[in-house]
Formats: sequence, C-alpha cells, structure tokens
Amino acid sequence: MTAISSALQAVTRRIAEVARACGRDPGEVRLLAVSKAWPADAIRAAYRAGQTAFGESYVQEALAKMAQLGDLPLEWHFIGPIQSNKTRPIAERFAWVHSVERGKIAERLSLARPEGLPPLNVCLQVNVSREASKSGVAPEQAVDLARQVAALPRVRLRGLMAIPRASADYREQRAQFGVLRELLEQLRREGLRLDTLSMGMSDDLEAAVAEGATVVRVGSAIFGRRTGAATG
Ligand SMILES: *Cc1c(COP(=O)(O)O)cnc(C)c1O
Repeated sequence: MTAISSALQAVTRRIAEVARACGRDPGEVRLLAVSKAWPADAIRAAYRAGQTAFGESYVQEALAKMAQLGDLPLEWHFIGPIQSNKTRPIAERFAWVHSVERGKIAERLSLARPEGLPPLNVCLQVNVSREASKSGVAPEQAVDLARQVAALPRVRLRGLMAIPRASADYREQRAQFGVLRELLEQLRREGLRLDTLSMGMSDDLEAAVAEGATVVRVGSAIFGRRTGAATG
C-alpha cells in the first residue's frame, strides 16, 4: 500500500469516527482531496486508492494537471481566490467552485459556463472569523449575495464554505464552524435550497464534521506537508 493510500484510509477513518460519535451517517461527509502543489502522479495514486474529487487553488497549475490526467474520470473543485480574468477556464473545466465571494465573479462564471455542461456548482466563501486579511463575504452580506447568485442561470448555488482562523482549541474551532452552519440554516429559512457546508481541513476536520460539514477539504493529511521536502 502506498503512503497516499494509507493516508486516505486514515483520513476516511477520522471522518467516520467523528460522524458516528455525533450520530451522523459517515456517508453524508464527502472527502475532497486538496492536491494543490502536488504533481499529477500524486493525484493518480490517490485515484487508484479510490479518491475521485480533487481541489485546486491555482488555475494554471490545475489546467496543467488536468491535461496530464485526462484519462481519469476526476471531479475538479476550484477552492482558491478567483481573479476575474480567470473565470472562463474555471467555468469551463471545473465541476465545483467553493470560493465565490462577489456577485460580479459569479455572473462571469455563469456567463462562461458552457451550455453542454450542467450548471457549475457554487459555494459562497464566508469570512466567519472576520479577519481583514481573509477572503470571503462578511456573514451579514451573505444573504444578499446568496440571492444574487441563486438567480443566475448557469451556476447552481449549493452552500457555504469557510476557512476559519487557525486555532488549536477544539471549542474555538467548533464555534467558528457553527457560525457557518447557522448561516446556512438562515439561508434555508429564506427559501434557498442548499445542501453543502464545505468546512474542515487536515487539522480541524473533527470539529467541522461535528458542526455539520458535508465536504471536508483535506490536503496535507493525505499528500504530506507542502513545506520542505515533499515526500508525500
Ligand atoms: C490548502 C487548502 C486546504 C487544505 O489544507 P490542509 O491543511 O493541507 O488540509 C483546504 N482548503 C483550502 C481553501 C485550501 O487552500
């Protein structure tokens, strides 16, 4: 068994354990393997171990890997900051975008989404920790943005995504993920049909699953730490 395949198993086990401990069906939580900064070979190894959904943060890097992996039926998720001059390749090549924070960007994605493909699945990124340096719409502006995005023809608003302030404290992690969960519940009460909470990474996925995550985005726990010698 390769390092990547055993790491995938370990992450899957972590998700299942915490899901069961809080009475959730582990099948409700999808694992998105974040492959940014890792080469196509690492993605191929993860695919052989059963992983099909991959997250990328940089458009050029992702397109290069897609070209090398065109023989595999992979589902690509864009999770990085979106520059307006990159909306076309994102709309054409990805199945999901987790990081929409402006209506203008969502409009461009909708316009550029090819007719032959299903609508682009979209999550709004919310700045739950309200850090000035962080991407994401402010929580109190999320309702307006959600209405605007939900009205676009070629994107399908699925839910919310957040990258909270890093914290080693479990209660603090839960509190931040809880803000996103409550916001999703509020949007549902407003009549929006949403099913996705994209939250939790390598170091805080337990807290995220306990707060209702339906997608966890995990990089280093699968592929290894990106800094220093990348041994996978
Ligand atoms: C890199 C990244 C991740 C994965 O982080 P890890 O700590 O390596 O699991 C998840 N989400 C986003 C948006 C990222 O940029």
